[in-house]
Amino acid sequence: MSPQMEEKVEAIYQEVLRRNPGEVEFHQAVREVIETLGPVLVKHPEFSERKIIQRICEPERQIIFRVPWQDDKGEVHINRGFRVEFNSALGPYKGGLRLHPSVYLGIIKFLGFEQIFKNSLTGMPIGGGKGGSDFDPKGRSDDEIMRFCQSFMTELYRHLGEHTDVPAGDIGVGGREIGYLFGQYKRITNRYEAGVLTGKGLDWGGSLVRTEATGYGATFFVSEMLKARKDSFGGKTCLVSGSGNVAIYTIEKIHQLGGKCVACSDSNGVIYHEKGLDLDLIKQLKEVERRRIKDYVEFHKDAKYIASGNIWDIPCQVAMPSATQNEINGKDAQKLVKNGCIAVGEGANMPTTPEGVKVFLEAKIAYGPGKAANAGGVATSALEMQQNASRDAWTFEYTEKKLEEIMVGIHRLCYDTAEEYGFPSNYVVGANIAGFIKVAKAMVAHGLI
Ligand code: GLU
Repeated sequence: MSPQMEEKVEAIYQEVLRRNPGEVEFHQAVREVIETLGPVLVKHPEFSERKIIQRICEPERQIIFRVPWQDDKGEVHINRGFRVEFNSALGPYKGGLRLHPSVYLGIIKFLGFEQIFKNSLTGMPIGGGKGGSDFDPKGRSDDEIMRFCQSFMTELYRHLGEHTDVPAGDIGVGGREIGYLFGQYKRITNRYEAGVLTGKGLDWGGSLVRTEATGYGATFFVSEMLKARKDSFGGKTCLVSGSGNVAIYTIEKIHQLGGKCVACSDSNGVIYHEKGLDLDLIKQLKEVERRRIKDYVEFHKDAKYIASGNIWDIPCQVAMPSATQNEINGKDAQKLVKNGCIAVGEGANMPTTPEGVKVFLEAKIAYGPGKAANAGGVATSALEMQQNASRDAWTFEYTEKKLEEIMVGIHRLCYDTAEEYGFPSNYVVGANIAGFIKVAKAMVAHGLI
């Protein structure tokens, strides 16, 4: 970047800091994107003239609301609900809802901001948004989850619509929660509007492969990065952090493609099983019984549970962080590279700190940032919307093929864009620039709104 361009981008960033005090994750996500956009502004002076970057950094609408609910004992609780409708240049706002005690405006804004570019990369007609609440679902009964979801939707419904804003799941929100949210939306509006939420159950408008999509998609993306280096998953030792929906289906696809996943984790600790993880058991513990991952060792005496362990200490060739933001720091990244890791694909959103990203890029390993690597989830949500709009339901094989084609396409787009802008095999640059340009062009076309 020329010094003038650097100054321009820095000034935009300083303004973002000033206007959004304390929202550190949002600052991090913005910095990572706009740092790479200098060469685009040189090629497209109209983006600077129309202040596209400044406009993209300001959400179109931010909704914050009270969510009161009663627990099973009758005690009243108050949570805070959020929906940040970030950008609708390419389609209705689209992005998940996160239920986790760490949620505050800065988390939802970082996720919503990333979502704009991720959704653009999918090539599907979807804008970017995100929502959630600081509600902690851990240990809550089904009835408590239902009452919370109903209260949340009682405010949110007025902002949604299949052509307006279409939420889905994220951390703490899966099929059960989407069911309660959909039921309440239907009840309040008196409309069976299937396309208003994605991640629905298969009997009532959901799409096959949506459950598997983020993990499968991330693994397809890594497979493409490996192919570009004349390599494959065959025989590779892999780590997948987390043990939720993304992690489970990442492990499944890694195993299908011939890799061996030896460890996964939750917020309490790490399971290490040298001969390869028993995925059926993990599914039973996590999806059916909603238990913690430490119970795995009750069934496999040769596996190890490392309480408060760091999964990135375990040597691997492929690492797929699939838990949460900033789970790989600079030191972890150095350790991974030193231990022989050659590829990292992010199933989670922004799981690597800026220091960690720097280590991966300098080591020139294949590094697939979340907004490209984990786009398969939201892409399959867009496929669910397509099926809802045409009142159709596709087969598993057909939908998975579509997902694979989309991931191959995203990989190619990032790869080619990085090369075009003089940063060969840098998927960070490729994803940011390719994702940005499409949104920016649409915003120019729509005028100053
Ligand atoms: N929460 C997912 C993501 O981070 C999926 C969003 C969606 O399907 O709308 O992309």
